[in-house]
Amino acid sequence: MPSSKALYHSEAPSAAGAAGEEVIILGGGVSGLTCGILLAESGRHVRLIAQKHWRETPSGKAGGLWLPYRIEPRDRVLRWSAQTFAVLTELARDPGNGVLLREQIELYRDNTPPERVWWLAAVPKHRRIPPAQLPVGYRDGFSALVPVMDVPLYMPRLERRFLAAGGTIDIAGRAVDSIDSLFGHARVIINCTGLGAQTLCNDAELKPIRGQLLRMTNPGIDRCTADESHPLGIAYVIARSSDVILGGTADLGSFDESVHADSRQRLLDVNLQLEPRLREAQAIEDVVCLRPYRSAVRLEVEHRPAGRIIHNYGHGGAGFTVSWGCAMEVLQLLQQC
Ligand SMILES: Cc1cc2nc3c(=O)[nH]c(=O)nc-3n(C[C@H](O)[C@H](O)[C@H](O)COP(=O)(O)OP(=O)(O)OC[C@H]3O[C@@H](n4cnc5c(N)ncnc54)[C@H](O)[C@@H]3O)c2cc1C
Repeated sequence: MPSSKALYHSEAPSAAGAAGEEVIILGGGVSGLTCGILLAESGRHVRLIAQKHWRETPSGKAGGLWLPYRIEPRDRVLRWSAQTFAVLTELARDPGNGVLLREQIELYRDNTPPERVWWLAAVPKHRRIPPAQLPVGYRDGFSALVPVMDVPLYMPRLERRFLAAGGTIDIAGRAVDSIDSLFGHARVIINCTGLGAQTLCNDAELKPIRGQLLRMTNPGIDRCTADESHPLGIAYVIARSSDVILGGTADLGSFDESVHADSRQRLLDVNLQLEPRLREAQAIEDVVCLRPYRSAVRLEVEHRPAGRIIHNYGHGGAGFTVSWGCAMEVLQLLQQC
């Protein structure tokens, strides 16, 4: 983990927008690091400042499945997801990047209206599962080949790539309380603060969706399975290389980060039905974190007297799924600044 450095440096501000200039990224989760890579690799001097290291944020705790879950609006999300899919497919060629291509099985207890699987438009390889091959109790289902980011491998890899491109990371240990205070150091600030933007930008539109997961050892499961319409609540299994993630819960508006014993039991019960091989798995840890949900992702330029802010937050349950597509749009907006 990079060491904490002074948050504020006395340097002359630089011009904005072009290669060679300094840009500050606020936020060190998957959004901040992915933007950091694209900007640093395009020749900018990028300083990333964050209150917390990614290990302590939702980006360190998420499942890492490519799936546009609880994120809006669909037209932009479809584009960002497809762009991210393409980058991840390329990264999956080198196992050191921490990206796996897995079969994702989506099961439904009723006939699926097409709008429920709108995101399949971004998936090159998918098929409807014939009724005779569906497990008992299900009336419809899809199989899709999608990327899974093995978060414990993928995030360190992003961090190393950003640093190798010349980026710097300041883990400040405290929240920046005004973006304007950073304009003395750069004329463009990229705001990737996730749920932190609620206070920082006074954004009442941004809300938490609490998620509880159970991380277990992987007894050899190599596919992901989901049942979003389980009568006891959403159920999904994400198979990574050395662990599996059992989900999930989705409590809109809840800031409660404590582990609920009844939710843990439900996660075990419903996911055992989906993936019987979980009987051979051992629990590693309970995980609770908050998805930064907004009725629409905020990805736009805000013009301030002292400079520009490019906002990139509110990715809900799909921050990994749209990360590269959003970073590409941030780079485009920066070039226009
Ligand atoms: C249970 C659960 C499961 C999930 N599973 C998946 C999944 O399978 N696939 C997927 O695509 N997505 C998943 N997500 C969603 C994903 O985790 C988030 O969308 C994503 O992590 C958001 O990343 P981010 O970088 O925008 O924000 P964060 O990871 O929250 O990072 C925000 C950063 O900003 C910093 N910050 C905030 N405020 C300030 C401030 N004022 N000053 C300085 N720094 C500040 C923080 O310290 C942190 O470094 C899941 C989420 C949850 C909760």
